[in-house]
This record gives sequence, structure tokens and C-alpha cells, in this order.
Amino acid sequence: MRKINKIIVHSSATRPSQDIGVEEIRDWHIKGNGWSDIGYHFVIRRDGTRELGRDIALSGAHCKNQNSRSLGICLVGGVTEEDVKIGENNFTDAQFKELQTLLKQLLTEYPNIVRIAGHRDFANKACPCFDVQGFCEKHEICVADR
Ligand SMILES: [Zn+2]
Repeated sequence: MRKINKIIVHSSATRPSQDIGVEEIRDWHIKGNGWSDIGYHFVIRRDGTRELGRDIALSGAHCKNQNSRSLGICLVGGVTEEDVKIGENNFTDAQFKELQTLLKQLLTEYPNIVRIAGHRDFANKACPCFDVQGFCEKHEICVADR
């Protein structure tokens, strides 16, 4: 098993009205990007449903130079309805609730995780359009002192 020491949160960069999930994103990543599978390990749909993406045992394809030791979570949404080039924190309460649940669960399952961050903390991107560290602090999802 590869050593997993961080979790990286993403948005799908799709409009809030687009009710998509693993099936569609997998299609884009395989047929569009020519990858072997979807790049993320988890997808959280607009209604808060959690879906499983790539096998956790395998490296994802979601954050340059960070894939081998991380898990990738994608929240569906993250751009404005009017213009997909404009990032926006428009995730639903159900998505944030499920993100909390998932992060807490993963911290229990993977004791080597020392960091939970957003894609933008590793790259010059807006993704996922909110402060992931602040979110974790607010909800007492703590990677330190464990
Ligand atoms: Zn991203």
C-alpha cells in the first residue's frame, strides 16, 4: 500500500445546475484526457452523495507532484452559472456536511495524514474556491496533535 499523508480537495469546475458525478467525470478523464481512470478518489455530488472514484490503493491524477501520497476529493460545482471561467464557492450545505464526515473518517482510517488542503494551496489555481484549512479549523477537523 502506498503511504498516504495528505488529502487534497478540488472542485469539478462545473455549473451549480449541473448534477453530475463519478460517471461523467470518469468519462471526461478517460475519453477527454486519455487517462486510465477518473483522477479523483472521491466525488461529492450536489445533493451530498459520496461516490467512489479511483481505487484508493492507486495514485490519483489531480494535483501535480502531489499524487503519489495523497487522496483527491472532488466537490461538484465551483464555477458560476453564467461563466465557467469564474470560480465561485457555491457548494451546497449537503456537500459541506458530507465533506466533514468524509474527512473525519479518512483521518481515522489513515493515521499518516498530516495535511488537508485545497488544490490552490499547491498550484496557481482557484480550485476549490474556498479555504480548506479554514473549513477544517471551523469544524474541528484536526490533523495536528493526534
Ligand atoms: Zn483541482
